[in-house]
Amino acid sequence: MIRILTYKEHPRGDAILDCYLYLAAYVLPFDPEDVLDGRVLHVRGITIAPEDFLKKSGKRARMRTKKYLKLLKKYHIAGPADSKEERLAQDRLLAAKLIWKASPELYWYLYTAGGGPAVRRGNLRTLLTVKMDELPQALRMIGAIQKKESVQKLLNEVFRYKDFSSNPLAAKLLEYMDVNVCPYCNRLYTVTLTEGEGTSRPQFDHYKSQSKYPYFAVSLMNLIPSCGLCNQSKGDRDEEVLYPYSDQMGTRVVFRTRPEKSLRYLTGCQDTQEEFSVTLDTVDGGLPEKLRDRVEASKDLFQLVPLYNKHKDYILYLFWKNYVFSSEYLQTLCSMFPDAFHTLQDVKTMMYLMDIDQAQWGRRPLGKLTHDIDMEIKGLTEEKS
Ligand SMILES: [Zn+2]
Repeated sequence: MIRILTYKEHPRGDAILDCYLYLAAYVLPFDPEDVLDGRVLHVRGITIAPEDFLKKSGKRARMRTKKYLKLLKKYHIAGPADSKEERLAQDRLLAAKLIWKASPELYWYLYTAGGGPAVRRGNLRTLLTVKMDELPQALRMIGAIQKKESVQKLLNEVFRYKDFSSNPLAAKLLEYMDVNVCPYCNRLYTVTLTEGEGTSRPQFDHYKSQSKYPYFAVSLMNLIPSCGLCNQSKGDRDEEVLYPYSDQMGTRVVFRTRPEKSLRYLTGCQDTQEEFSVTLDTVDGGLPEKLRDRVEASKDLFQLVPLYNKHKDYILYLFWKNYVFSSEYLQTLCSMFPDAFHTLQDVKTMMYLMDIDQAQWGRRPLGKLTHDIDMEIKGLTEEKS
């Protein structure tokens, strides 16, 4: 529903990318130098060159549990591994073999040769940071991984989202991303707390599901900070919803009220909740087909219309405020307090307790709804006069 900034557009983009690459290099069974591809990281006040990553991060090889040793044996990666380096090399080889088994196309995208496979660093970086709606042809060709067993193996042994997400730096990453309100519903705060006692953080929704695209399980642009409700509602469903790194409803798909019984609600009277309903529809002609489908999928999966119909009390307050504070009155306030209010928009910001400019919708829950209803009221007033 609301657009969020990619790391490239974000004022803290470098911090986001460094924090993310640290996590990726730490969690993924690739050589950190392959993941970092020459980038020197600045994370939590420490500078880390790719060649120092192992030492400075304390990255460990996988635990040699019975199950893991059995898996190594199954893939003919046997033999003692006494040093950390040897164990990490075994982990890397197992990852390559599992990737090959899951999808030769993915394998050839990531590696140059069989045997002691060398990683194509540029491609690995693309896989980890590409926008999901800008996948290069080679990645698009890989498609969904069909075999359930392969999906599980990739998630457990290669693209280990659980380890990624439970790392304390994942919360730091969310803090840098600074997505205040869920971009899917614009109803719930998704702020992150990493300091002090305890932490609080939003969830990551996998825009492309882990069960079909396990190789995107830890990809930065596939991880959408979102509220638990939206993440849960979406689950593994396949329909393409609006992609918050590119799409938004903007001013083309808008909330409006529709009278069901009378027009009394337009004065903001609180006992009129049953007399109108909330709609979310396209205005000003059609949308491009693909976007229209995503809008419909978002409405459906996140149950936006029924949920927003639960906010009628809030909408009534908006009508009430506008009924009491006419635009002439707001204009008067503006001229009476020129230091406090430079524009009529400033007075409105005070009245709504939020800036309803489109760029600010993501700062407050119900930002878009407030804007859209304000526009509706404006339209009604202009009609009247
Ligand atoms: Zn949400």
